[in-house]
Amino acid sequence: MNACIVAVGSELLTPFRVDTNSLIITERLNTIGVDVRLKTVVGDDVDELARVLTSALGNADLVVCTGGLGPTEDDITRDAVARVLERPLELHETIVDSIRSRFAKRGLTMPEINRRQAMVPRGAAVLENVNGTAPGLWLEHGRTRVLLLPGPPREMTPILEAVVRDRLAPATAGAGLFRRVLRIAGRAESDIDSRAQPVYGQWTSRPIPISTTILAVLGQIELHLTAAAPNRAVADEALDAAMAELQEVLGSSIYSTDGRQLEAVVGDLLRGAGWTIAAAESCTGGLLTSRLTDVPGSSDYVAASVVCYSNATKVDWLNIPEALIAEHGAVSEPVGRAMAEGIRARAGTNVGLGVTGIAGPGGGTPEKPVGTVVVAVVTDRDTRVRTFQFFGSREQVKYQSAQAAMNMLRLMMTGRI
Ligand code: ATP
Repeated sequence: MNACIVAVGSELLTPFRVDTNSLIITERLNTIGVDVRLKTVVGDDVDELARVLTSALGNADLVVCTGGLGPTEDDITRDAVARVLERPLELHETIVDSIRSRFAKRGLTMPEINRRQAMVPRGAAVLENVNGTAPGLWLEHGRTRVLLLPGPPREMTPILEAVVRDRLAPATAGAGLFRRVLRIAGRAESDIDSRAQPVYGQWTSRPIPISTTILAVLGQIELHLTAAAPNRAVADEALDAAMAELQEVLGSSIYSTDGRQLEAVVGDLLRGAGWTIAAAESCTGGLLTSRLTDVPGSSDYVAASVVCYSNATKVDWLNIPEALIAEHGAVSEPVGRAMAEGIRARAGTNVGLGVTGIAGPGGGTPEKPVGTVVVAVVTDRDTRVRTFQFFGSREQVKYQSAQAAMNMLRLMMTGRI
């Protein structure tokens, strides 16, 4: 089954409101194997909506509209649907009664205008809205099913759930689109895609087809694998095999295949080793420790951190010789290393991290441009120091620095570097 989603509302065409309903709808439909092929946003214009609906009806098995079911003149979804499906609008007294009693519960009299919400295209099934006045509507038109949902997410979601459970899932009999997310750090998108594309490019024509989307998120790449399968067991088998093929070509740059973020992966490695960690942060300003401590239970391994932003604190708190800073500069591999060693000694941990860099936008030099970041990792077993060149805004450089520090530690702890 394939679907088309139409979000109705002029506010969704402004820079101030985003159509998030279609994300919820897509997510829910995908879980029962409905493939969303097209999404459209239409303003409160009955002619425009009628045109969009006519086209959608010719192409989709399921058309889902959200919004435009309110009581006012600019709520035009009912009218457009009635026009396109050539069904008259009929007043349902039972809906009027339920709207009236909603108002009465609040000690209010129902305004006449709300009767509009009780107008239903002939033959439509009325879907109860437990959180609002506008009911959802379900219509069948030839081979196409049409679902009308109210715009407010808290009204829309329970109706959608009920329709998926009672009307759509039984038709798909356990089939669905099953997802896996594979996360990669420390490599460029083009590099990943040139290795992975020859592998995943063949999956769409398999008996259990798997489609792949590559997403470059700050500091990491995600590969989203979606298998269309008759049930979860079959999907898992196909996805496991696909994952193994990707592991072959991408190797250690994959840091998670089970949805965990890097900080959780690193946390699990530390806990597994029975190690503790401390960080000396300069350009990340505490972000690295903040992310490490985003993980529940991180007190098992995070011991301490310092933000030593100034040279004076680097010297005073971490015993870094002033001469070292004078000779190499605060952003240098010797100083990064001394920060990691200093915090590790001070906190008495198994791991010390040091991060020092130029987050920008000012402060760069030809030798050390903005985005130059030194990451040092010192553990009970060994020491690694690397200079990175990141691009982007100040926040983006900080984020990538924290990401690089955690990834270096991950690679060291798993014996990859
Ligand atoms: P009602 O008028 O009864 O509130 P409605 O079905 O007419 O319901 P709209 O008037 O179109 O809904 O939208 C009401 C509010 O719901 C919007 O201001 C917006 O906050 C939210 N909303 C509408 N459509 C969307 C959407 N596609 N994504 C996210 N929020 C939405």
